[in-house]
Amino acid sequence: MGQGPVCDKVETIHAVAHVFDQGRWNVHLLQQWLPRGIMSDILHISPPMSRRLDRMMWALSSSGSFTVSLAYQEVSQPSPRSMFFTNIWHPLIPAKVSFFMLHLLGSRLPVMEILHRFQVHGPSRCWCCKEPGVESLDHIFCIGEIPSQVWQSFEGSDGSPGPAFTVRHMLAKWWFRATSKAALKTIYRILPCLVCWHLWRARNTMLFDGKRVTAVGIHLRILGELREILCGRYPNLASGGLSWHSLLDLVVKRDRSGRISWHKWSRPQLMIPKLNVDGCYQAERAGEGGILRGPEGRFIVAFAKVFDVAKSLQAELKAVLEGVRLCVQRSFAEVHVESDSLLLVRMFHTKVGIPWWFMRDFEELLALRHHVRVMTHCRREANRSAVGLAMESITQVPIQFSSRGGSYP
Ligand SMILES: [Zn+2]
Repeated sequence: MGQGPVCDKVETIHAVAHVFDQGRWNVHLLQQWLPRGIMSDILHISPPMSRRLDRMMWALSSSGSFTVSLAYQEVSQPSPRSMFFTNIWHPLIPAKVSFFMLHLLGSRLPVMEILHRFQVHGPSRCWCCKEPGVESLDHIFCIGEIPSQVWQSFEGSDGSPGPAFTVRHMLAKWWFRATSKAALKTIYRILPCLVCWHLWRARNTMLFDGKRVTAVGIHLRILGELREILCGRYPNLASGGLSWHSLLDLVVKRDRSGRISWHKWSRPQLMIPKLNVDGCYQAERAGEGGILRGPEGRFIVAFAKVFDVAKSLQAELKAVLEGVRLCVQRSFAEVHVESDSLLLVRMFHTKVGIPWWFMRDFEELLALRHHVRVMTHCRREANRSAVGLAMESITQVPIQFSSRGGSYP
């Protein structure tokens, strides 16, 4: 109720199943057991459909389950997000590299420029130039001789992102590089972090092991690690020996071919009728539409109807319920239901939890479960008839039409 559990507010603990009957709250019992202040709050909640064991619900999560992370989010104050600190975290960037970038952007790496601030004095000589310069973050990660050559070696066929004079400036230029290709966006996100990581490793190798590292050597290490990272998504990169430009070409070609796909409605495969349904919610109006086709794929009946719900997921569910009831009316004991709502299908197959606010609606579907032999997900493009009917229902009067005659629109 937002003010702690209700059970803490009553003297004797009762089960919820004791205070409702036939889908309605027993107001007389509630008045006896509950303080007056929370009666109106309880009556605003729809009573459950079935008499299950009571379960504690946490209103801040959609599943009703308590999690420490959500509790932490609730108590922690939101703070403005930085573009730099957002871009260093990505599933494809190794965690050690992300944490290293965190230190770099926070100026917490032990280079002489930083150590001077802590009264640690010593010779400040960079590792990267023939004439050693001051070891500052911008020098060893951006404007020094070897760092500049490494950044230049990753110029694309569309040219360089342009000169930069600080490491933050260089990172921003890569992260904001314009491209319409998703694969290139990913590479432009990962690569700057890898460059900084390997420049730092080269600096430490030079400083602590006394081994000289060249710009070409650093380039090859970065390229090898980038290829390993991308191999999971682009298996044709696994062959190795690729140059930077051929890696870019392969990734872009693969990305282009991966985008082409064809989705269309498929005939029933199970020798039972197939029901395609869709629910839509737009501008505070909800509608449902569905079309039932026989085992051989021929049209049987379709419907479109407007109704009153507050969320699109409820609209998707109402469409399934309406369609299944229609099948039962038409004496079809079992049906194959196809919906473009992946979430609803996953809930039906218990792959994801059911939000507490949705539980009451969902129980209606569970009551009809024995009429649904299989429920599958399809792309919206393959569900166009049902989508069109649902959209039509918002603007038209209720319609139902069938192959046996009746009212055609
Ligand atoms: Zn230098």
